[in-house]
Amino acid sequence: MPNKANRLKGLWCRFSKYEYQPARIKGLTLGHIYVPPSSTHDWYDPWEQYHLSNTQEGIPRPYETLIALAERPGPLSRKVPEILEWCSQFGLLGVFPQTAYRIQRPARWLAASKQQYFQSQEWEWMGGGWRSSFGIHSVDPSLDFAHFANLAHMRLGDAIRSTHWAYEKPQVYVRNTILAIRDAYSTDQPIPVSEIVPEYFAGAPEPEMFDCPQPGTLQFWRVYSEPLQSFGSQARAFSIACKHLHETGNTQNLKSLERYLEPLSISLTTDSDGRVIETWNSPSLLCTFARMALQDAMAGYTLYSCECCGSPFVRKNPRAQYCSQTCGFRHRKRRARSIASSDERKKHGKKTRK
Ligand SMILES: [Zn+2]
Repeated sequence: MPNKANRLKGLWCRFSKYEYQPARIKGLTLGHIYVPPSSTHDWYDPWEQYHLSNTQEGIPRPYETLIALAERPGPLSRKVPEILEWCSQFGLLGVFPQTAYRIQRPARWLAASKQQYFQSQEWEWMGGGWRSSFGIHSVDPSLDFAHFANLAHMRLGDAIRSTHWAYEKPQVYVRNTILAIRDAYSTDQPIPVSEIVPEYFAGAPEPEMFDCPQPGTLQFWRVYSEPLQSFGSQARAFSIACKHLHETGNTQNLKSLERYLEPLSISLTTDSDGRVIETWNSPSLLCTFARMALQDAMAGYTLYSCECCGSPFVRKNPRAQYCSQTCGFRHRKRRARSIASSDERKKHGKKTRK
């Protein structure tokens, strides 16, 4: 019986097609992966494929495919077609919603009659979901009389323009992760949203005025992009974290997987028989994949690399050699053939020595 206990509460979004926009800045490849407007979307549960991989030959764990992609040799820029193909199967990794836990939006004017008040707004990952929270602030007219007179032109709900004196840069608060979301900032320092926009919302005009849609919604995924560099380095870091999971006796090594699991929370629901079911709330694929890897490690699975094709794979069997029956068959056939030909050479050698 496949265990349905750990399905995802909110489904993950993937698009039919992803594209790559290359950019070279200071000799570095800094392009990003984005969703072209013509792409269609669907919502899926990565745990479904995980469960299927328990019962069906040839279906890998979703996270095994990410490790395989990360482990493939060669520079990142040459792997772009494979990465885009992978994204159309699983979606983007969600590096931004994995790293951020508070995303501020531009403040908006309130109270149409007097225009003395404005509302600050933000998204916060709390209790397993992205919640909207806001604060009401008043404009202090003693600060600037000239600008206060101009307030009469502001309409209810208008965002405070970045040129207005009352404007404050919206910031992103990020958790302490393995990799900093931007090099110039330490992992626990807030970053201005406008600096994130060119990379993670690459098509958005006016980064200073970017009003982030609620993460996890279709509207969000439509405008979300992921820098190729981030995709590559996160895939690599995830792969290393999974390897550490199987090195016994070193708890320090488990820290990196812990970081991926940090935002995860649990929801409870009931099945059709009225039995309680545990589901996961996860803000990113990375977090969901980390939970899968943990589940496997706790159940005694280990990461191997296939003796035929070299692909990494997880199995419980300590003598596992191949990622699939096909690889096992191919490799045994190849080996039989090479034994036969070396026998042939030996025979041939004897003849010539006579
Ligand atoms: Zn193989």
